[in-house]
Amino acid sequence: MTFDPETATFLIAGPVKIHPRVLRAMATSSLNHRGDYFHGVVKEIRDLLPVMFGTTGTQVVLSGSGTAGLEAMYSSLLPAEGRVVVLSNGNFGERSDKIVRKYAKNVTTIAAPWGQPIAPSAVRAELEKGDVSAVCLVHNETSVGLTNDLGGIAAEVKRAGSPLLLVDGISAVAGIPIQIREWGIDAIVGGSQKGLAAPAGLALVHLSDRAVAALHPGSFYLDLKAHVTPLEKNDTPWTPAVPLFLALREALLLLKEEGLDHRLAHSRRLAEACRAAGEALGLELFPVKSHASDTVTAFRNPDGLGDPEVRKTLEKEYNILVQGGQGAATGKIFRIGHMGIADWPDVLVTFAALERILARHGRLPAPGAGVRAVVDHMP
Ligand code: PLP
Repeated sequence: MTFDPETATFLIAGPVKIHPRVLRAMATSSLNHRGDYFHGVVKEIRDLLPVMFGTTGTQVVLSGSGTAGLEAMYSSLLPAEGRVVVLSNGNFGERSDKIVRKYAKNVTTIAAPWGQPIAPSAVRAELEKGDVSAVCLVHNETSVGLTNDLGGIAAEVKRAGSPLLLVDGISAVAGIPIQIREWGIDAIVGGSQKGLAAPAGLALVHLSDRAVAALHPGSFYLDLKAHVTPLEKNDTPWTPAVPLFLALREALLLLKEEGLDHRLAHSRRLAEACRAAGEALGLELFPVKSHASDTVTAFRNPDGLGDPEVRKTLEKEYNILVQGGQGAATGKIFRIGHMGIADWPDVLVTFAALERILARHGRLPAPGAGVRAVVDHMP
């Protein structure tokens, strides 16, 4: 088999596999984005977004990838006064750190090695030094397959008098349980191409009432206030990515039909299956197991084998796409995304192929053990 993008088993860490209903929703002639029909689409999306965020509130769709959402959040919300604390333990933590430093003067970074979580106690120690006006973190660090303890960190933020809590939830929203209200999250950004399983190119932002009141213009295109104000009329400030909005509506409808709880539980079950199958095949998990992500599983490449032997062989010979490492982890790890509508056949065939590859290199400890582990996790 050779690689064919239309039929591939597609398990990268986002964008993810897209349901044909969502693909078909985009195949339409141009729409007037200032007309009644499109305003109706925006209204429906607004009504459906709480299904994905798990709560109601001010929720905005931005045309632009997840990073646009992050830049909108930081540029519109970082306070002029006080210290901003950024947590960084992977490629996307480093990205947030870079964006935050463009919009805030007094920034303290709490860093942990890639694959290690940031302990809530480390955040508490920094908060106790005082004068913190905002805390920024990545909930699920896609680059290393690790989930930070957002609930625990949020509790420390509350204890310290509730500076703003701004979250990159791009690979967590609709993939990992998040209690936006209970944890006191002021702003969280999701990406269309992850747990929601819509095409790439939209950022979804939830804002608390306090965040809405604190919005200030830091950018022109990404000024969140400019996006919030027209919501009242189901309008957008600039020409939106119309086909992507149509896809978003359909992906949200699918999520509603499935139920958020089911999608979260399904991602978790697939993650458990991947971890068990990896262990059975002697693959080493890259992050600490206690914080391994439910949306993306990262394994180290076995000693002596690299991207060409593992990931590229999966792609070229088995028509299976998984993702490599980024930044400091390039060539060292491979990542299996199992969010959105990824399903058992995808994971089964991936581990079957991995077994063949490991066998070829004399590294298969127990033939069939990986596939068996996946089967044992199936409902
Ligand atoms: N933050 C996290 C946690 C991500 O997973 C990603 C994308 O993978 C991004 C930020 C960047 O999003 P985008 O590539 O959509 O701009």
